[in-house]
Amino acid sequence: MSDEPIVDEERFEAVQRLIKVTALRSTPVDGDGCGNCYYYLEPGESMAYCWHEKFQMLVGAEWWCQHWEMAED
Ligand code: SF4
Repeated sequence: MSDEPIVDEERFEAVQRLIKVTALRSTPVDGDGCGNCYYYLEPGESMAYCWHEKFQMLVGAEWWCQHWEMAED
């Protein structure tokens, strides 16, 4: 058995595209991050599901993207 990682190239490229078009980053911007975004499903958790149509995936509370919206109180 080979130790070579098996990468789904199509999926890898799709993720790279997503990062590029959404400006997704791993650090907050001026205190705004996934953790206090409207689309973050479980505020208070360090990781949670983002239900924005572009994502629909697990994100970290400290991450940020250009679709950030203020969470409702
Ligand atoms: S829309 Fe962007 S900022 Fe908001 S939770 Fe999703 S990835 Fe994070």
